[in-house]
Amino acid sequence: MRAIVVGAGIGGLTATLALRRAGHDVTLLEQSRRLTEIGAGIQLAPNATRVLRRLNLLDAVAQHSVRPAHLSFRTWSDGSEICRYVIGRDAEEEFGAPYLQVHRADLQRALAAAVPPGSLRLATPVTGIDQDDKAARVTTASGERLDADLVVAADGIRSAARQWLFGADEAVFSHTAAYRALLPAAEVADLDLPQYAGWLGPGGHVVHYWLRRGELLNVVAVFVTDRAARESWTAQAEPGEQLRTFAGWDPRLLTVLDRAGQVFRYGIHTRAPLPRWHVGRVTLLGDSAHAMVPFQAQGAAQAVMDAAVLGDCLTDARADEVPEALDRYVRRRVPAATAVQAGSARAGHDYHLPDGLEADARNARLVALAAGNRFGPHAAAWPEDVVADR
Ligand SMILES: Cc1cc2nc3c(=O)[nH]c(=O)nc-3n(C[C@H](O)[C@H](O)[C@H](O)COP(=O)(O)OP(=O)(O)OC[C@H]3O[C@@H](n4cnc5c(N)ncnc54)[C@H](O)[C@@H]3O)c2cc1C
Repeated sequence: MRAIVVGAGIGGLTATLALRRAGHDVTLLEQSRRLTEIGAGIQLAPNATRVLRRLNLLDAVAQHSVRPAHLSFRTWSDGSEICRYVIGRDAEEEFGAPYLQVHRADLQRALAAAVPPGSLRLATPVTGIDQDDKAARVTTASGERLDADLVVAADGIRSAARQWLFGADEAVFSHTAAYRALLPAAEVADLDLPQYAGWLGPGGHVVHYWLRRGELLNVVAVFVTDRAARESWTAQAEPGEQLRTFAGWDPRLLTVLDRAGQVFRYGIHTRAPLPRWHVGRVTLLGDSAHAMVPFQAQGAAQAVMDAAVLGDCLTDARADEVPEALDRYVRRRVPAATAVQAGSARAGHDYHLPDGLEADARNARLVALAAGNRFGPHAAAWPEDVVADR
């Protein structure tokens, strides 16, 4: 079968590899001229790393990653630990694959290196997709028309394909934004920071973890705001803005935010859940289908899961079986991804409570969860296994 994948982000690259593994001929079209270094940390929980192992890519990704032992939840004002969850060796044994923290560029590079050079076409924006009973057609900005038996639109949160398939609908501002920064390890060596922590406070939370075998500290400082800003991986914050927003937080965090050279301001958006993602032989995948707030660190992992299930559903499929196979893909993935979207939104509400009774109750809940399940609430999505659920 001939498949076209639109968008060479994490979802599109993984879908390309999964479809090739399923025996199909895949062309991947990406609008950018090159795959850039833009971006910062991405977390890959065991649900996603199991898929990377299946694609023989786990070692290539793991060599650039960090494997944290714990996630430590802390109090915003003094850093006292609320509770900690196990995500290291024991979690790897329990869930059959490691929890990795990786720079998006390293992950994208490892995936792209596994795509045969002739299959990836850069500088090729897609401007339209249509279909009839026999085939789908993709139109590019140069006017070229390409036929395919299957089209996968992995064109990200601002997906045009989603509008072509389902009509006008825009990304939704979540009333949260994030300052993002990467600091060389030497800049923060004196601060004795925990390996991977989430600091919870009124109207915000700060997450930090290491990348590139511990050479870089990745910092994401999320805050509630009504000032809508586009999700941008290049828009810089005003000088010192992050210090004003997080005034009063633990001095160690403020020192981190102060020493961060370049700070990006990223408006967090989501997509409303859709009851289905495909029409005929064209389907959405990844953020185009289910962009979510990143508070359970599952955005990229869910895109990887989509790709793996898509490959599974299309293994040995013939061209005339594509609509039915896409139906199976959507029936397996919509409930799972929608549940993670909702769980991530709930986590945001919980993380940002003002000090007081509700925050105390949240802390007590987190402690009780740690006692009942040492892997923590985020682990709910990890057992999902594309092989096991076939
Ligand atoms: C530049 C960039 C940097 C990012 N950095 C981070 C990060 O540091 N941390 C993090 O957690 N998440 C980051 N993300 C988001 C994260 O990668 C995604 O949320 C997640 O991996 C899901 O990926 P996706 O493949 O669905 O979408 P995306 O990763 O957004 O990929 C979509 C791809 O489709 C391409 N595309 C869009 N429209 C067209 C078109 N019409 N024709 C052809 N190509 C098209 C885009 O150029 C892009 O390469 C970043 C996304 C981008 C685009």
